[in-house]
Amino acid sequence: MVPVLEDGALVRGDERPAEHFDVIIVGAGLSGIGAAYHLQKEFPKKHYVILEGRGAMGGTWDLFRYPGVRSDSDMYTLGYRFRPWKEAKAIADGPSILKYIRETAQEYGIDRKIRYGCRAKQAEWSSEEAHWTVEVAGTGGTTTRLTCNFLYMCSGYYDYAAGYMPGWPGMERFAGPVVHPQNWPEDLDYTGKRVVVIGSGATAVTLVPAMTDKAEHVVMLQRSPSYVLALPAKDIAAEWLRGKVPARLAYMIVRWKNVLVAMYLFQQSRKNPEKIKRWILGLAKKVLGPDYDVAQHFTPRYNPWDQRLCFVPDEDLFRAINSGKASVVTDEIEAFTEKGLKLKSGEELAADLIVTATGLKVQLMGGMEVWVDGQQIKFPKTLAYKGMMYSDVPNLASSFGYTNASWTLKSDLTAEYVCRLLKHMEARHYNVCTPRKTETDIDEEPAIDFSSGYIQRAMDVLPKQGSKRPWRLHQNYALDLLEFRFSSVEDGTMEFSRVSKLAEARR
Ligand SMILES: Cc1cc2nc3c(=O)[nH]c(=O)nc-3n(C[C@H](O)[C@H](O)[C@H](O)COP(=O)(O)OP(=O)(O)OC[C@H]3O[C@@H](n4cnc5c(N)ncnc54)[C@H](O)[C@@H]3O)c2cc1C
Repeated sequence: MVPVLEDGALVRGDERPAEHFDVIIVGAGLSGIGAAYHLQKEFPKKHYVILEGRGAMGGTWDLFRYPGVRSDSDMYTLGYRFRPWKEAKAIADGPSILKYIRETAQEYGIDRKIRYGCRAKQAEWSSEEAHWTVEVAGTGGTTTRLTCNFLYMCSGYYDYAAGYMPGWPGMERFAGPVVHPQNWPEDLDYTGKRVVVIGSGATAVTLVPAMTDKAEHVVMLQRSPSYVLALPAKDIAAEWLRGKVPARLAYMIVRWKNVLVAMYLFQQSRKNPEKIKRWILGLAKKVLGPDYDVAQHFTPRYNPWDQRLCFVPDEDLFRAINSGKASVVTDEIEAFTEKGLKLKSGEELAADLIVTATGLKVQLMGGMEVWVDGQQIKFPKTLAYKGMMYSDVPNLASSFGYTNASWTLKSDLTAEYVCRLLKHMEARHYNVCTPRKTETDIDEEPAIDFSSGYIQRAMDVLPKQGSKRPWRLHQNYALDLLEFRFSSVEDGTMEFSRVSKLAEARR
């Protein structure tokens, strides 16, 4: 429904005038808090709000409560560029990351800008008004409308309502609980229980060693293995620098060291996959010993970084296997039974508790519908501009982190670029910016070239990327940094315009 003007005020039907903001940020997770920091630093006078659908900030780091929940990137790159990570552990637990996000929000007064229990349901751009009208569902079934000049989506990349759960025959027959890590029951007691964790991704490799603290035994049941690389939980360079140089400088040095190491590992995995494969498997063999079947349980069918690597701190997964408290079974589920799982090999796995670490449901825009001048935007039909805006969608950016490096590296760059863009517009009195695909020699490609199941399942949800800049990202922090900081904002692709707003004209 297009908003109408009555006596200079924006109304819909019989509703009150909509509250207006310069920028609306959707989501108070790691990205939303970072975006707000950059925005208020660059534009202390801009009027902005953060809409958060849940009752707390922190996003992922507040939602996920399963045992052992932690980052698998180091916090020197998952932390914000502008606020050093000061804790000893580089691979940090979920509660410490949540504390870091909360403290950042408090330190910069961002917490006062968050409106909780406000889910953005629909956003509608009016070219006539040169603004967005955002329909917000509140707790208790209320709906309000807000308007803004620029909409900044920091809503993450997955559906908060539920995780991905493949259906297996006979699930209802299983006598014990079946739990998804995204909805971990607070009172779930697994003391002395036989646990089967289905999956081989980052969540499974985290849960398995963590649950050996109380469980009788934990089996990681995987259809096919992932690459698992053990890293020290504490960063040796950070430990060494502690106290020797100012904290901020130490943070910057370790951050760049980790960026470069991660980039090198990624590039080498693409250039010399066999070499990297031998190295990763060699490390696993060293800890697991010569009798362990690394070929069957830790040797994937794909090359390193064709899917995200799983990092484990201080070899905890391998140590749990060596202790006999955990084991890996590589097989397929035929059916759930009353007592556990029947596998395709004929083997039966007895279980008291089954955890389905089967991943997330990828979702764009936090499930919000986006309309531009009465046309609904189908994001898979759009082309992503610098991995942050979308062809023919004006004044809207979204924060989408790296898949081959820490999320925050890219969300920080995106926030900086949004500020550059807004500064540029302000200086030239533009109020609309729209990426337009005017070039004819741009081919469309998938936005993410990972073979992981969750990315493959999301192909009909994700936008495309182009074969050339600015429709394509380097997926390389150092190169993207140069591009985001120094490339010309007026690049011939971003169309700028000045719209005299109907509302302003009437005021
Ligand atoms: C278990 C787990 C571990 C991870 N570990 C790492 C890691 O080690 N390294 C890494 O780089 N990445 C990791 N990730 C990816 C992780 O999601 C990002 O690192 C980061 O937390 C994303 O932050 P975000 O703010 O962009 O999104 P989120 O953390 O998902 O936050 C989005 C926020 O937006 C809100 N929201 C969504 N839709 C709406 C709406 N329509 N209206 C209002 N509010 C809305 C949500 O409630 C939420 O608070 C991990 C993800 C998971 C699930």
